[in-house]
Amino acid sequence: MIRDPDVFQPFLHSLRRFVRERLVPREAEVAAQDRVPEDLVNAMAAQGMFGYSIPEEYGGAGMTTEELVLAAMELSQCSVAFRARVGTNTGIGSEALVADGTPEQKARYLPRLASGELTGSFALTEPDAGSDATALKTTAVRDGDDYILNGTKCFITNAPIAGVFTVMARTDPEKSGAGGISAFIVPRGTPGLGTGQPYQKMGQAGSPVSEVYFNDCRVPAANLIGGEEGQGFKTAMKVLNKQRIHLAALCTGPAIRMLDDAVRFVTERKQFGQLLADFQLVQAMIADCQTEIHAARALILETARKRDDGQDVTMEASICKYFASEMCGRVADRCVQLFGGYGYIADYGIERFYRDVRLFRLYEGTSQIHQLNIARRTFAQAGSR
Ligand SMILES: Cc1cc2nc3c(=O)[nH]c(=O)nc-3n(C[C@H](O)[C@H](O)[C@H](O)COP(=O)(O)OP(=O)(O)OC[C@H]3O[C@@H](n4cnc5c(N)ncnc54)[C@H](O)[C@@H]3O)c2cc1C
Repeated sequence: MIRDPDVFQPFLHSLRRFVRERLVPREAEVAAQDRVPEDLVNAMAAQGMFGYSIPEEYGGAGMTTEELVLAAMELSQCSVAFRARVGTNTGIGSEALVADGTPEQKARYLPRLASGELTGSFALTEPDAGSDATALKTTAVRDGDDYILNGTKCFITNAPIAGVFTVMARTDPEKSGAGGISAFIVPRGTPGLGTGQPYQKMGQAGSPVSEVYFNDCRVPAANLIGGEEGQGFKTAMKVLNKQRIHLAALCTGPAIRMLDDAVRFVTERKQFGQLLADFQLVQAMIADCQTEIHAARALILETARKRDDGQDVTMEASICKYFASEMCGRVADRCVQLFGGYGYIADYGIERFYRDVRLFRLYEGTSQIHQLNIARRTFAQAGSR
């Protein structure tokens, strides 16, 4: 749902201009320095980019799902590092509080997440609990008015720069699986909380990811999200369900950008005395990219509208994430092909996108986990007919 098209369309327009004029020219610098420079972080904060999904009463833009995915498709038409910088605040790093936080927890953290003063991070994955996230071993043991957390999280986006973490930990060791898991807010500076060195990654330079350690980390009971034990995994699933639609949109922006770059290249370069764009085999690759981008966009918008309408989109969210992330990988591969040898050379940027977008098929549910989820729900629907 778009609340006011007269406000939203000019907003999208100015976002597009900001991405093209301010972010795209700095892509190579971000990749070389492996960080988003402070002046751009401040500029993104001034644009309100950290608060897109956070309710207006807490200083955000309170975007509907449809608005959020449309903004995401614009914002992500540049290096993934830029939107990753704001992305935990507009997604997994704030959404647990938005969905299930108590009024006090929301009032305490959401305004600072919306302004970008604090960077949020979502810590679910562990060395032995990846796809099988309910196998997590981090413990949270009640001690008077506190909980004491122990354990290790791995692959946590923005952990090296985060000011606050949403942490999934087991409060009931008797209950294996989802039932014994609770969600906590843990601010940086809490004694016993540590973060590792950023990993060296295949791509997404400028988006720091590291381990997070809890060694007798004492957290007030008031930081238990929602105030009730055993609800953490449900909260995590709420976060991920919305995020899957959002992430699908964030896979579509890079695909649009890569196709734009490839179109420019093939309409300028000549071989055999004619433009590459005139070869029908080249046109086929362009058409396949364009078709898949349109299919993803339509699927995402329909799912976003259904979610705004209050419908259960659990299966559709998985379909969006699965299709859009795989689509983006195929588009990246074709675009490298369209650039020929230049597609393999760093100066042309397309190889960076190729490496950056590979992650989309791995995190927030691998493609295989989404296939299983989609099939399971398809069988369930068939059984209930
Ligand atoms: C750069 C990066 C950033 C990340 N950011 C975050 C973050 O901010 N917060 C967070 O909590 N996590 C984050 N993750 C973790 C990410 O969500 C996990 O890596 C992902 O869920 C997969 O888990 P795994 O790596 O342990 O792989 P595994 O679960 O070990 O999977 C390995 C392979 O086996 C397949 N597989 C596993 N189970 C099945 C099955 N039942 N059937 C068929 N195939 C299966 C998988 O599809 C995959 O191909 C991030 C990861 C990376 C790399």
